[in-house]
Amino acid sequence: MDQQHDIHAMLREIYDQAATVQDGQLASYIPELAAVDPSHFAISICDIHGNTFNEGAHAQPFTLQSVSKVLAYACVLACQDEAVIMQRVGVEPTGEDFDSIGKLDRYRRAFNPMVNAGAIAVTDLLMSVYGRGAFDRTLNYFAAAMGCDALEIDEAVFRSEQRTGERNRAIAHLLNNYKLLDHPVEDVLDLYFRHCSIRATTQDLARLGGTLANRGRVPGAGKAVLEPDCVRKVLSVMLSCGMYNSAGQWVYEVGLPAKSGVSGCLLIVVPGRMGIAAYSPRVDERGSSPRSVLAARLLSDKLQLHIFAT
Ligand code: GLU
Repeated sequence: MDQQHDIHAMLREIYDQAATVQDGQLASYIPELAAVDPSHFAISICDIHGNTFNEGAHAQPFTLQSVSKVLAYACVLACQDEAVIMQRVGVEPTGEDFDSIGKLDRYRRAFNPMVNAGAIAVTDLLMSVYGRGAFDRTLNYFAAAMGCDALEIDEAVFRSEQRTGERNRAIAHLLNNYKLLDHPVEDVLDLYFRHCSIRATTQDLARLGGTLANRGRVPGAGKAVLEPDCVRKVLSVMLSCGMYNSAGQWVYEVGLPAKSGVSGCLLIVVPGRMGIAAYSPRVDERGSSPRSVLAARLLSDKLQLHIFAT
């Protein structure tokens, strides 16, 4: 009880400190994301036993955006041959923007599944396995990993990105040009944008982090939803590539597998211990929320969470 009280008090302190940060902008390249209230801020923790700690607007839904890449990759690892995946999507950090085409064009392969090119190629592979039922199958998989009964998408955000996502269209056409897609570009993008538009709260994301921290078992419930080997691979790419072109700085300072989403959400995994999620919609030029990143840094310092903490 005392320990729980201490964690609540620490979380409140970190929340208050991070809430003073006003840096960043709403991600207006997806018009609907620019319509959200920029003052939202929430942090949630879910440990592997299912104990949860929340601060701020933890019931406020947002869209997963690139955090969906974590689950799409886990899902494809679970159902596709690894050699087939590796032919199209590697595991190397790009050091470039999340929607860059530079390395894809030069090496004719998506560098990793945490950037847009890789996630679009992964989406295509999921369609090869699941066919017409791909959206329902992947949605169920996402829900199971988050320990939720059901998930839904934010139709307005989905339509908004589908209408304006020319950069992703260009990436998909380039993938197609290099024979890295087996389905029509618009069909693949439709599923990719749907994954990005799945609604969740920080509580849901922290539970997903808890599942990944718990070697694929939903915290508390004990249900195994991901293979431990799959979790190891997913966490590895989250560590090296999950924070895009700030991945090096992130590992240096925070030292944990993580994934940012341009809606302002952030998923962090502390292997064997807990999942952490934060959300605040203003993002920097690298697509991460400065408030969420500061909260993660403070938590990592206070609880000595860095994987190389001594
Ligand atoms: N849906 C966004 C895109 O494809 C995701 C980017 C992100 O969250 O970093 O551009």
